[in-house]
Amino acid sequence: MVPGSRKNSKNNWVIVVHGGAGKYYILQRKPELKSAFLQGIKKALLAGAKVLQGGGKAVDAVINSVSVLEENPLFNAGKGAVLNRTGEVELDACVMDGSTRATGAVAALKGFLHPIQIAYKVMTSSNHVLLCGEGAKKFAIEHGFKPIDENTLKVDFRVTEHLESTSPEEFGTVGAVAIDIHGNLAAATSTGGLLNKHPGRIGDSAIAGAGTYAENGACAVSTTGIGEYFQRSLTAFRIATFVKSGLPLPI
Ligand code: ASP
Repeated sequence: MVPGSRKNSKNNWVIVVHGGAGKYYILQRKPELKSAFLQGIKKALLAGAKVLQGGGKAVDAVINSVSVLEENPLFNAGKGAVLNRTGEVELDACVMDGSTRATGAVAALKGFLHPIQIAYKVMTSSNHVLLCGEGAKKFAIEHGFKPIDENTLKVDFRVTEHLESTSPEEFGTVGAVAIDIHGNLAAATSTGGLLNKHPGRIGDSAIAGAGTYAENGACAVSTTGIGEYFQRSLTAFRIATFVKSGLPLPI
């Protein structure tokens, strides 16, 4: 988390970034990666903080932070995302602007490094909220995003995980939430989903209200964990509803 100084309204901003629920276990198995993970988180925080420091919008800050993590092969998003059952990378991402509740998302998207930027484009340049699969790809190309060879998103340790594991259990999703100096909130989440998931499976991260949610006057949420639970209970929206009503979270 990088908070601006609360004394000066120009510095009255906060950004929080996460690198996924599963990293804890990965780091226990591979402690040598710990500092690289932390460096990755720091770089993402600074990319978002730069926007907020300059008086920029929360939504731009979370897009910047998540984009940095999508480029980092250690995280389960963009390059480095987990492989599904058939050895393919299918990406989910969602962004929400708490000032308007405008939302954009893509799901089961193949062949792009920055799904979060395409989600943002869905939010700003379409009448839709969520596009998936081939339709999302078509939309991205129409809006100037260049598809890349899907194999370049696959990194060696993800291929090994895929070959050795038969159950979907690895996390590493990335997300960011922020408030800017104008008091506007935003949330963004990006993921490859669950290791060895069924092709076409769409997780909570792409679903506004399940894994991603922002509403001024309430809060901004980006979840990580087994998405099916969050989808069944609309976790992110539920948390925001509790915060808005002033009730304690039922944890
Ligand atoms: N929530 C993500 C999903 O189910 C996984 C994760 O958090 O790592 O797709």
